[in-house]
Amino acid sequence: MSESPRIPPVYVTQPLLPPLEEFIPYLQQIWDSKCLTNNGPFHQQFEHALCDYLGVKHVALLTSGTVALITALQALRITGEVITTPYSFVATAHSLLWNGIKPVFVDIDPVSLNLDPARIEAAITPQTTAILPVHCYGHPCDVERIEKIADNYGLKVIYDAAHAFGVRHRHGSALNHGDLSVLSFHATKVFNTFEGGAIVCHDAKTKQRIDHLKNFGFVDEVTVVAPGINGKMSEINAALGILQLQGIDEALRKRRAIDERYRSALAGVAGIHCIAATAGEGSNYAYFPILVQPDYPLSRDDLYVKLQEHGIFARRYFYPLISDFPMYRGMPSAAHANLPVAKKLAEQVICLPIYPDLAVSDVDRVAGLIASRS
Ligand SMILES: *Cc1c(COP(=O)(O)O)cnc(C)c1O
Repeated sequence: MSESPRIPPVYVTQPLLPPLEEFIPYLQQIWDSKCLTNNGPFHQQFEHALCDYLGVKHVALLTSGTVALITALQALRITGEVITTPYSFVATAHSLLWNGIKPVFVDIDPVSLNLDPARIEAAITPQTTAILPVHCYGHPCDVERIEKIADNYGLKVIYDAAHAFGVRHRHGSALNHGDLSVLSFHATKVFNTFEGGAIVCHDAKTKQRIDHLKNFGFVDEVTVVAPGINGKMSEINAALGILQLQGIDEALRKRRAIDERYRSALAGVAGIHCIAATAGEGSNYAYFPILVQPDYPLSRDDLYVKLQEHGIFARRYFYPLISDFPMYRGMPSAAHANLPVAKKLAEQVICLPIYPDLAVSDVDRVAGLIASRS
C-alpha cells in the first residue's frame, strides 16, 4: 500500500512499553514466589499505586475494560434500561447486553462528542436505572449536569473512562465523578498492562463487593455471596502496570507535544476541524480526532484511503456507530432520526496517529498530506 516501500507504515497507535531488562526482575520475583494470581503482592501494590497516581480512593483491578464494565453494572445491581452513547467503542453497549439490560441511545453534543446532557431527560422512562456515558477521546463529559439529572431521577452513573486514564477535571481526577468509573489498560490505550482494566469507586464497601464479584463471589473458602466471574488481573499484568507507571508522565508529555504540533499545522486548513477538550478541562491526548467537513475537497473516506496509500493507517473512531451494528439497530433509540449529530460526525471523523514515540517528521508528513487538500 505504501508509496515507497522504504518508509515503514505508521499506525494510529503504538503501545507504550518499558525497557525489557527493567521488567525481568519483576518476572524473577513472580517465578521465585510462585504467586501468579489471586490478589497477590503485585496486584495489591498496583492497586495502591494507581490510587496514588490517579488521585482516587479505591481501585479494583480486572482482566479487561470490558469485564470491568460488566462487573461494574453487576456491582450496582443495574437492571432495566440504561441511557448511553452510540458514539463509542462497541464494548460500552455490549456490557449492557451481557447483563440483560436494554441500552437506550441518546445523541451526542456536537462540540465535545460526549453524551448530550440536554437530551438525557427525554429518554428516561420508569425502567431507567442508570446512565453510562463515555469520556470520549479522554475529554471529560459534562459531569455536573449529568450528576444533577441522575440525582433528580435517582439514577446511578457509571462512566466508561476507558479513554480517560489520568484525565483531570477542574480540581481533581475526572474519575472521581459518578458512582463508578471504568478504565481499560488494553495495549492500544494511553496506559497498558497488555490486557487489563479497573473499576474506580469511592467507598470500601463497594470495593469489597467488586472484589467478591471478580473472584466468583467468594468471601472465604466456604462462602459464596454472588454469581461472580473470574475477572482477576494476574501478577504479570499487575507487575507490568507498576513499571509502566514510571514512564507514564513522560509519555503524556510527548503526546501533548504531538497534539500541539498537529493542531498548529492543521489550524489554517479549511474544512478540517481538530476536536479538543472544552476549555478548562483536561485531556491525556489519547487520540487526535479531526472532522473532515463538507468544505474540504476530499470526502472523509477519500482522505482515509489517501493516507493509507502513503502508509498512514489512521482510524475512523467511531464509525460505524454502535447503534448501527445488527444487535442494536432494530431498537427505537437506534434510529438515525434520534441520533442526527452522532450520525453526521461518525461520517466525518478520522483519528490521526498519536503515540509517544511518533516521530516529528511523521507528524509533519501526515499534516502535510492533509494540508495539501488534494
Ligand atoms: C477499549 C475500550 C473498551 C474496552 O476495553 P478492553 O480493555 O479492550 O476490554 C471499552 N470502552 C471504550 C470506550 C474503549 O475504548
